[in-house]
Amino acid sequence: MKLHEYQSRDLLARFGVPVPGGRVAVTPEEARAAAESIPGLKVVKAQVLMGGRGKAGGIKLSESAEEIEAFAREIIGKRLVSVQNPKGLVVGKLLVAQAVDIAEEYYAAVLTDRDRQQNVVMLSIRGGMDIEQVAEEDPDAIVKIYIDPAWGLRPFEVRQGLRRAGFPTEVHARMTDLVLKLAKVFVEMDAELVEINPVARTPDGQIVAADAKVVLDDNALYRHPEFQSAADDSAEDDIEAEAARRGIAYVRLDGNVGIIGNGAGLVMCSMDEVKAAGGAPANFLDIGGGAQAEKVKNSVELVLMAPEVKGLLINIFGGITRCDEVARGLLAAFEQLDVDIPVVARIEGTAAEEGRKILEGSRIVPASGMQEAAQKIVALTR
Ligand code: GDP
Ligand code: MN
Repeated sequence: MKLHEYQSRDLLARFGVPVPGGRVAVTPEEARAAAESIPGLKVVKAQVLMGGRGKAGGIKLSESAEEIEAFAREIIGKRLVSVQNPKGLVVGKLLVAQAVDIAEEYYAAVLTDRDRQQNVVMLSIRGGMDIEQVAEEDPDAIVKIYIDPAWGLRPFEVRQGLRRAGFPTEVHARMTDLVLKLAKVFVEMDAELVEINPVARTPDGQIVAADAKVVLDDNALYRHPEFQSAADDSAEDDIEAEAARRGIAYVRLDGNVGIIGNGAGLVMCSMDEVKAAGGAPANFLDIGGGAQAEKVKNSVELVLMAPEVKGLLINIFGGITRCDEVARGLLAAFEQLDVDIPVVARIEGTAAEEGRKILEGSRIVPASGMQEAAQKIVALTR
């Protein structure tokens, strides 16, 4: 789960990372009030889950509360588009914070290096808006410190890394402190990424997190119940947010063939088969094992919320999931929803006979085998 910048900042502050104070605003008036509570230069930042907000026009520095209100009026509800996210995201919330006086911008992050199967700290003195470009053009400007899983990150390793990366000696002590705290957040919060870009050095030598990006591991969210309720707020898409509320694994994609299956692997196969048949999947949706009729109905509803869906493929391989239970859920869903698109179902496994009987005479086209089902739905969707 990606946390918004304001959520990431709060989290980091809890671990003692120096973060400028700020407030969240959802209306221009709130933005103004927040700005009036902050002395001097302030920064307003669109709280959308994508990088490159600076270049996309989602950030403004100003001393004037009036100007901040005007900027808020202009940007709330607007779609921000960046290089990393061409589809863009609509701005709902703003963070109004004390601006940092920045003399230099550094980069610091903790993440997992999957090839090395180790966590790694990445450091650079060339932080700021162009770190992706630095990574491409001058990868040596980014220094990596691999974290020994037995020892954890040790201060001398950080100091060595800072020296290798060319950080000025006067910031070594504060940077070491910062990096150790980031590593602590990473481990204790079961994070996938903790990234500060830029780490700001102020003219008087302070080290401050001027931006913050934390991604938590969804599979460990049960250990951090305070963030469970933040899940829908963090989704990048309305339907994904609704899926999070309903506890269904759903990812929205670009195609027009909706897909429902049980088991992540089976759903992935279904997506491949749709592709192989010349179609394009509109989503990933896993109803999981042992799904009851209600969950099936919920899933159908979710998939159909996307207007681009022009056909629906249902692929069930019943183990602990009972096909008759799924069939009842499908019937209930189609009774209540006004569905006028083609639906193909492949139903195999536990109680498949009963399931198929239940669906007889309904608008659901049966198929035997995953490939046949994919070919049928792609043909009908065209
Ligand atoms: P991103 O572009 O989405 O990563 O957003 P950032 O929060 O990193 O901001 C982008 C750029 O805006 C930074 O690299 C800074 O140059 C500038 N910026 C952001 N916050 C501040 C601030 O508090 N003070 C100053 N002087 N510049 C800031
Ligand atoms: Mn940034």
